[in-house]
Amino acid sequence: MKTQAMVMTDFNKSLELTEIEVPHLENGQVLVRLAASGVCGSDVHIWHGEDKRVKLPLIPGHEGVGYIEDIKGQHCSVDGQILHPGDLIIWNRGISCGRCYACQVLKQPSLCQERITYGINNPCDTPPYLNGCYAHHIILTADTDIIKLDDSTDPVTMVSASCSGATIAHAFDMCRIKPGSTVAVQGPGPLGLFAVAFARALGAGTIIVIGGTASRLDMCKKFGADMVLDRKSVSKKDRFDTIMQVTGGRGADIVIEAAGYPDAAKEGLDILAMGGTYLSTGFAQFTGYAQIDFFSQIVRKNAIIKGVWVSDTSHLYDAVHLISKNPPLFSNMVTHTMPLDNANQALELMASKKALKVVLTN
Ligand SMILES: [Zn+2]
Ligand SMILES: [Zn+2]
Repeated sequence: MKTQAMVMTDFNKSLELTEIEVPHLENGQVLVRLAASGVCGSDVHIWHGEDKRVKLPLIPGHEGVGYIEDIKGQHCSVDGQILHPGDLIIWNRGISCGRCYACQVLKQPSLCQERITYGINNPCDTPPYLNGCYAHHIILTADTDIIKLDDSTDPVTMVSASCSGATIAHAFDMCRIKPGSTVAVQGPGPLGLFAVAFARALGAGTIIVIGGTASRLDMCKKFGADMVLDRKSVSKKDRFDTIMQVTGGRGADIVIEAAGYPDAAKEGLDILAMGGTYLSTGFAQFTGYAQIDFFSQIVRKNAIIKGVWVSDTSHLYDAVHLISKNPPLFSNMVTHTMPLDNANQALELMASKKALKVVLTN
């Protein structure tokens, strides 16, 4: 049996639709027919050759939802159900070793030094070859954590749980949100939208979003933001004054950075309340330095600053359940769907920021 994938053989060049022989499965491996493959902002960085983990030739794509076509032996879902052909599934995009210091002592598998991510680490000349989601089929290894989805799930809506949804679930796993906590979100992209939705679901009080794209800020309101501040029309000082005004002069208890540029960190720590927590989720690679006044912005506030690197299976589980509560809302996040062989156009759309989220429908 043969399948097709969009293969990246060179950085900054077009991906090519390529026929690939589906290998015989090994014990525990699962052959999945992809129903939806998410195009992530970090795929654009991969395409530009900015991710040091990548080896070519690569089938990109770390976000997938699909139907099981074949299983060799047995593979159970994370809640112990035996999986069968025909089941609709989503899986943790990363596989951690379970044996290293990060996995066993820190109990933070997202920091595993051996962590392998579909569509990033393993080139498609390495077995089982079908190692990414920009394809009609992917082979999941025996140690991949799989979540079985309800048959009624819309794969296109659910696929964002894989990456941005799970990463924001990880952020909220690192802080204590109380009923009434004020949450400020920097950046209204997919990460920012999930931040708004999680904050609302977890009982936040006022949710404020700072961003630079009006249409995305409108989307944040749909997702539950009480106030949006457009940094193109509202100055930094006015943003600060407004946030202080709505928080009784205290600032935001939790600030989530989902923007990925260093200046955001400076502003985020300014608007952070005494005793507040700053969660940084938006930096996928080095983008420069931020100048921080440690006395006023951190020490004097007892501020907690936490980096959020990718996610683990528990975070994916949380994101799946968040989306399952209100699929029509999350369907708004996907601005473009297109067939697999339009993957080059999809990457261009994400690079130009004309699309909020593109999903390949295979
Ligand atoms: Zn991603
Ligand atoms: Zn490990």
